[in-house]
Formats: sequence, structure tokens, C-alpha cells
Amino acid sequence: MRDVPCEIIEDLMPLVVDDVCSEESREMVEEHLAHCKQCQLKWERMKADLPIPEKKGTDPATDDRVIKGMASTWNRGRKKSFLKGVFLSSLSIAVLVLAYVGLFEWQITSVPADNAEISDVGETEDGKILYHLNINDGYSVNTLKYSMDDNGDFYITAKRPVVKEKAQHLSTLERGYDFIDVPDQESMRGQKIKAVYFGTQKDRKLIWKKGMDLPGASEEAKERFGF
Ligand SMILES: [Zn+2]
Repeated sequence: MRDVPCEIIEDLMPLVVDDVCSEESREMVEEHLAHCKQCQLKWERMKADLPIPEKKGTDPATDDRVIKGMASTWNRGRKKSFLKGVFLSSLSIAVLVLAYVGLFEWQITSVPADNAEISDVGETEDGKILYHLNINDGYSVNTLKYSMDDNGDFYITAKRPVVKEKAQHLSTLERGYDFIDVPDQESMRGQKIKAVYFGTQKDRKLIWKKGMDLPGASEEAKERFGF
């Protein structure tokens, strides 16, 4: 066995690693490494510094399956969070719409009786009661509701949403004439009207009650409805 100096082996090592040397040089290096601890360490270190060689002979189909599996897992996850997102957005939209409708559209607030000025109450020959209503708080009224309780008390209730709007152009609902066709309402409801109020049972203002004499309805009022 030739005794090759460590320096020469060291010079050859990179060539062996890169596989660009002769078979003789490789054998010489391997023989030397077999008995030289010092060069073995250098050899190990040199090999460790090299990039990890690509694994050869990996089945491409395996890789493909792995990638497909990963993709499907990812897709499932994505689909799930997409649906979750859709659900949550629909929910919040529904809540917003409900809140909007509830606050701005539902006619659930009754205008306080104190904000209603009732004037020019009169009666036509055929028993209709006409009156002038002025909602004096400057906010719009969206609807007038008519109801009657078991006592024969008839209520005219002005309704507006929770979020009230400034009345832009005063409509006839906020300032104008209104009428109750007493005989018509009585036959419709199958009950005699004893009193007519503006407001609600808890907060009301009397317009007329049985026994109260009313003047004839004003011409202006009658003209408004073509009576
Ligand atoms: Zn050596």
C-alpha cells in the first residue's frame, strides 16, 4: 500500500466528491481514508458541506398523489371557510337589514298625544267627524292607524319609525284634515263608537265623545274630501 501524503489526499477529495477523478485516484483516497483518522474527519466535513443530493428514483406518481391530496385538503378547508364566510356575511347582512327596517321602516312608534294639536272638529249631516290635525314636533308621520277597543273608544294613532325623520314637506298626515266615518266604522266593527281619541289608550287626547255637540264641518274640511 502506497503511503500517500495527507496533503495530496486532501487535494483529491473534492474531485472524488464531484466524481470527476480517475478510478485510481478514488481508490487511493479510499485506501488512505481507511487508515487516516485526520483525513476521515476532513472527508466527512467536506461531504457535509455539499448540498444534499437529490433522491433518485422517486416514483413521480407518489409525488403527484401527495400534491393532489394536499390540494384537496386545502380545497376542503377553503370551501369550508368560504361557506362559513358566506354564512357569516349573510347573517350580518340580515341583521343590518332587520335593524334598518326595524329602525327606519317599521311604524312602531306612536306620536305622543301632546304633539298633536286637534282643531276645527266638525260633523257632516251624515255623521262623519272631521278634524284638523297638526303634529307640531316637526317630524314626519308615516301613517294613521284606526282602532277601537271593547268600550267603544275609537283611536286615531299617528305612527312613525323609531328613527324619526324631519318632515321635509309637511304632508297632510302631519298637518291637515282627517275624518272618521262614524256610521261606516260602526257597521264595519259591529259596535257603537262612544268616543274618538287621538293617540293610544295610555296617551290620548279627546276629539269627540257621545253627548258632545259638534258644529257643522267647515267648508274647508268638507272641500278637502269632496263632501
Ligand atoms: Zn491523511
